[in-house]
Amino acid sequence: MIVGEQKPLDEIRDQISPFKKVLILGCGTCVTVCFAGGEKEVGVMASTLRMAGAVSGQEKEFLEATVKRQCEWEFLDQVAEQIASVDAVLSLGCGIGVQAIAERFPKVRVYPGLNTSFLGMPVEQGVWSARCAACGDCVLGRFAGVCPIVRCSKSLLNGPCGGSHDGVCEISPDIPCGWQLIYDRLEVLGLLDTLEEIVPPKDWSAGMGRGGRSIVREDLKI
Ligand code: SF4
Ligand code: SF4
Repeated sequence: MIVGEQKPLDEIRDQISPFKKVLILGCGTCVTVCFAGGEKEVGVMASTLRMAGAVSGQEKEFLEATVKRQCEWEFLDQVAEQIASVDAVLSLGCGIGVQAIAERFPKVRVYPGLNTSFLGMPVEQGVWSARCAACGDCVLGRFAGVCPIVRCSKSLLNGPCGGSHDGVCEISPDIPCGWQLIYDRLEVLGLLDTLEEIVPPKDWSAGMGRGGRSIVREDLKI
């Protein structure tokens, strides 16, 4: 899932300070699951902003709505009337949601209420951990299902580096060494001998450095 967390309240208030009527728009998918921008968080954010406005003597109106997915226009169209009725939208979706709103409603001012953090998963109650950087050229098969791009602080394809110590990364004692994780998995699978092969450079051209990436499926186009 896409994992995000809410921006500090002061930053949110700064962004929307020029506007009198704001729609707080949640997303019912990833950011609902990670408790950052679903219906409940929209309600809490609206109450908080109303109280903050009342305390500071500002007259503001906050509308609330949550769509199933902000990243698809067909769901955004369901709140088109509300969007048209406000001065700005505060999105509690991920960065894709914010951009989908901006592209669907070019004349609407839209602001992010979240920082989009990473692609990850919950590993315990209240803890999410990064697992994928969407590099476009997945090498998990070579590394026993542990991503060296995300789990190693240096994204090493041939590791570990000299900073690995007692299973933790030199970056922080709180960060497991990604290459220790890879080693442990390969050991369980009886595949440690694969570490003797040098992994060639990865095709980074499929990744973020290329700029605007798209996938075109001709068989699905109408
Ligand atoms: S190798 Fe790339 S696509 Fe595969 S999990 Fe890692 S970052 Fe994601
Ligand atoms: S210590 Fe491990 S995780 Fe940290 S940079 Fe080196 S190989 Fe990567």
